[in-house]
Amino acid sequence: MTDSLSSRLSQVQSRLRAACAAAGRADDAVALLAVSKTFPAADIRDLFALGQRAFGENYVQELQQKCEALADLAVEWHFIGPLQSNKTRVVAERAHWVHSVDRPKIAERLSAQRPDALPPLNICVQVNVSGEDSKSGCAPEEAMALARAAAAMPRLRLRGLMCIPEPTEDAAKLAAQFAVLRRLRDQLNAEGLALDTLSMGMSADLELAVSEGATLVRVGSAIFGDRHYSH
Ligand SMILES: *Cc1c(COP(=O)(O)O)cnc(C)c1O
Repeated sequence: MTDSLSSRLSQVQSRLRAACAAAGRADDAVALLAVSKTFPAADIRDLFALGQRAFGENYVQELQQKCEALADLAVEWHFIGPLQSNKTRVVAERAHWVHSVDRPKIAERLSAQRPDALPPLNICVQVNVSGEDSKSGCAPEEAMALARAAAAMPRLRLRGLMCIPEPTEDAAKLAAQFAVLRRLRDQLNAEGLALDTLSMGMSADLELAVSEGATLVRVGSAIFGDRHYSH
């Protein structure tokens, strides 16, 4: 096993513990999702041996290949990338979680295609908290209706909300975007939905996300190193 994977994983785990302590939250209040997109299945195998169980993928074909290559391991697979409606079946059959549900059609297809032999698929509604046109995610005004609809779908289990904020050096602006997601979660819970997940924070901003209430951070490059895209 490469020392660098193991030492980078421990560094991220200590950053996470320190962020929880600084925010007055319990040590285990925030789950770590290792975002393995573009990295080989062998890296996942190494991290699994170190105790990491949850891995995130962005591309359907890559998810499928890695599930097949690692079928002997009890990996918890999270799909976190943009999802086209003609590719939902593989995700419904392979993933334990989908963080990127951003329109009713995707939720409907995932629910219809989730195999009966598996437990309901855990999902998060992805919200565009920055208002940038190019970003995926539903508008904050649409999130409540989409969350209510998804919560009622038989083969889905609505767990919470996810966002990818607009990158900015301005910590206050970033914190404000995370806070949009937290307030939406609070509103939905006030209506009686029991959302336990705020999926926000990545390699560069996990501390800020934890201080704004993240319960799951999605960390790629800080664990795996720099990505080289071949897509
Ligand atoms: C790639 C990716 C991440 C991880 O980003 P890093 O900056 O490498 O930590 C997190 N979330 C999503 C949705 C991603 O696509």
